[in-house]
Amino acid sequence: MSTFWIGTGWKMNKTVAETRRYIADLKARLPDEAGADCALFIIPPFTALAAAREAIGAAPVLLGAQNMHWAEAGAYTGEISASMLEEFRIDLVELGHSERREYFGETDATINLKVKAALRHGLRPLVCVGDSAEERAAGASAAAVVRQVRLAFAGLTRAEIGRSLVAYEPVWAIGESGMPATPDEAGAVHVALHDALKELGAPSVPVLYGGSVNLENAAALAAEPAIDGLFVGRAAWSAEGLVSLVSRA
Ligand code: PEP
Repeated sequence: MSTFWIGTGWKMNKTVAETRRYIADLKARLPDEAGADCALFIIPPFTALAAAREAIGAAPVLLGAQNMHWAEAGAYTGEISASMLEEFRIDLVELGHSERREYFGETDATINLKVKAALRHGLRPLVCVGDSAEERAAGASAAAVVRQVRLAFAGLTRAEIGRSLVAYEPVWAIGESGMPATPDEAGAVHVALHDALKELGAPSVPVLYGGSVNLENAAALAAEPAIDGLFVGRAAWSAEGLVSLVSRA
């Protein structure tokens, strides 16, 4: 049985104290068999990474960061490098979330630089791609995200791409105003993403779905054969929420 991924990005939420409480609660609620066929991950803000690493201890919970810069060091005020993230022994780094693309000017080109830098440092990129409402209305969802994936991995070897994760996060589905993709709709886009990854020589890259995942729709989404995991925002911002989703998936 292949690993099913379930994780949550916290965006600009949770202080150090809240992070410690979340992880303590998560550890208390994790079933004994957690980690057997499910890879569980949390992505706190940078400021809580040290506390999160310490609080996780030996629990089967992977730790991620929400972003990084591609340069090794330098005059980039406010940015964080891969070496800085390595100090927290993070397991993955989220790159190209649609909020970063929309509010912070990230482009396919800068995401590609970040993916390369992450891999150089042995960090596993979680590359987020997503179609807009307009692209969806035009029937161009799969084409849009396949293009983003090709650009994110441009110039990388098969082996490098193979160390990555991809998250399909429709822009129209994430956050308060979003509505989830149906399992059929998400499944079809995932098939296209898997085909593109196969063409790039990396057929085993897991593709996660994210966008208004909740307790009602998690089981049906997880049952789609092309969906290898769930990347969750709001519904997993409590440890109870995350563990409940694990039990549904
Ligand atoms: C997200 O923003 O990446 C996300 C998946 O959010 P939500 O689950 O809250 O829609």
